[in-house]
Amino acid sequence: MRLILLGPPGAGKGTQASGIVKKYNIPHISTGDIFRKNIKEGTELGIKAKEYMNKGLLVPDELVVAIVKDRLVQDDCKKGFLLDGFPRTVAQADALDIELKNLKYNLDKVINIEVSKDELIKRAVGRRICKECGGTYHLIFNPSKTEGVCDECGGELYQRKDDNEETVTKRIEEYLNKTQPLINYYEKQDKIVNIDGKQDIDKVYEDILKALGGE
Ligand code: ADP
Ligand code: ADP
Ligand code: ZN
Repeated sequence: MRLILLGPPGAGKGTQASGIVKKYNIPHISTGDIFRKNIKEGTELGIKAKEYMNKGLLVPDELVVAIVKDRLVQDDCKKGFLLDGFPRTVAQADALDIELKNLKYNLDKVINIEVSKDELIKRAVGRRICKECGGTYHLIFNPSKTEGVCDECGGELYQRKDDNEETVTKRIEEYLNKTQPLINYYEKQDKIVNIDGKQDIDKVYEDILKALGGE
């Protein structure tokens, strides 16, 4: 299965990704996670990306495209992959099309998760992430059993620096200007499936599996 998860910040892409990649046994490629790992490790890429991420701006296309190209040629992507948060601009989508053609990979579906703006802000501001395993929680909508501690691995939960109301608002604006046009882009390729992301996490997952032809 070769999939893209599309949707505004806080829509639930990462949350849904974890179930989908287990179900189909495919690698989860999140450009946001790759950048955060590089920031943590203090790499050159991390230093460059941080400047944009903290302002709620998209990282320049060249940087993102290079990372994804490197990732897609790895062996584990032969069995399929889930791209989460990439592409985010038409230029990225064009670059991806070329790379997929080179690799003779055909995209199956683009899952578009739809959520209203008010809800996105609530979701992003209450989001908490495990430092160790990257597991995603929400203070109100999806709390861990013990506050501040990951259910899966016992790791410490933290809040992303860009998950404050001001930066989230900027990220949503970036989404509307630069990423939303991709819905039409993939509609033309007949790949889009629209999913109502306002429902409970389990119901959203169920709808995604149905749309992918699973049970
Ligand atoms: P994205 O990867 O699209 O930015 P996340 O998966 O990280 O989004 O989800 C954003 C926040 O919203 C997280 O705190 C997550 O626990 C919560 N969340 C995800 N899906 C839902 C849902 N269907 N209903 C309520 N909260 C959700
Ligand atoms: P969210 O789903 O909440 O927006 P991500 O973890 O996907 O969060 O992305 C966090 C930040 O990383 C973005 O605001 C942006 O600065 C950067 N980023 C991630 N993926 C891309 C991409 N494909 N193109 C440009 N910037 C990206
Ligand atoms: Zn954890």
